[in-house]
Amino acid sequence: MDRPVLEFKEVHKEYDDAEMKLIALSEVNFNVQKNSLNMITGPAGSGKTTLFHLIILMDLPSTGDIFLNNESVLELSLSKRSVLRREKIGTMLRWGNLMPYLTALENIMLPMINKNEQKAIQIMELLEFSKKKDMLPKDLTHFDKQKTAMARALVNEPSLIVADEPFGDLNNEKTIKLMELFHKIKNETTILILSDDNDTNFDKYLDSSFILENGKLIKINKN
Ligand code: ADP
Ligand code: MG
Repeated sequence: MDRPVLEFKEVHKEYDDAEMKLIALSEVNFNVQKNSLNMITGPAGSGKTTLFHLIILMDLPSTGDIFLNNESVLELSLSKRSVLRREKIGTMLRWGNLMPYLTALENIMLPMINKNEQKAIQIMELLEFSKKKDMLPKDLTHFDKQKTAMARALVNEPSLIVADEPFGDLNNEKTIKLMELFHKIKNETTILILSDDNDTNFDKYLDSSFILENGKLIKINKN
C-alpha cells in the first residue's frame, strides 16, 4: 500500500492568548491514503477550520506532528511551506472564494503554475461546465461556483485537495452532485472534506469518515 498522503500524529492545538486559553484539537490521529475520498463531519466549533488551517500549512500544531507526503510540517522552512501549499495542496471553501471580476476560466487559471488554457478547459469539461467558462461569478449558481473552485483546486495536480464546508448553501440534490464530482476526481488526487452536514447520506462515496466532537476525532467504521 502507498504511504499516506496526510498523517496526523497526536496533534494537539491550543489557542492561547491574553484573554483565554482554548483547546481546539486534542490527540488527533488519522491518515488519508492516496486516491481516496475522506470526510470529517462535526458541528460548528468542533475544530474543522482549525484542522483546515493546519493542513494547508497556515498554522502549526501546539504539540504532535503532521506529515504531508511523508514530510514533517514542523521541519519545513517558511519558503518550503509556501511552495508545498502552492504546488501540492488544492483548497475549496464555502463560498467558492472566487475573484468577482474574473471569468470562471480566469479564476481557474489564476493559481496555475504552468499556464495552459487548454488544460484548464479540459478540467471544466471533466466537471461538465466548460460552456460557462466566460461567465463571471455573479452570474454562476452556487453549484457552478463550487465547480469553479474545484477546477481551480485541480489545476496544479495537487496531491491533496482539502475542502472546508464545500456544500455551503447547496440544496440536498446539488450537495450529492458535488459529492459525485469529488468521487469522480479522486483518482487524480486525494480528497479530504470537512463539513457540518450530517444529514445527507454520503456513505457510498466515502473511503473513510470521521466525526469531530469538541476537538476529538472519532473514526467511523464502515461495514
Ligand atoms: P469549526 O470550523 O468546526 O466551526 P473552528 O476550528 O473554527 O471549528 O473552532 C474550534 C474552536 O476554536 C472554537 O471554540 C473556536 O471559537 C476556537 N477558535 C477558532 N479559531 C480561533 C482563534 N484564531 N483564536 C481563538 N480561538 C479560536
Ligand atoms: Mg469552520
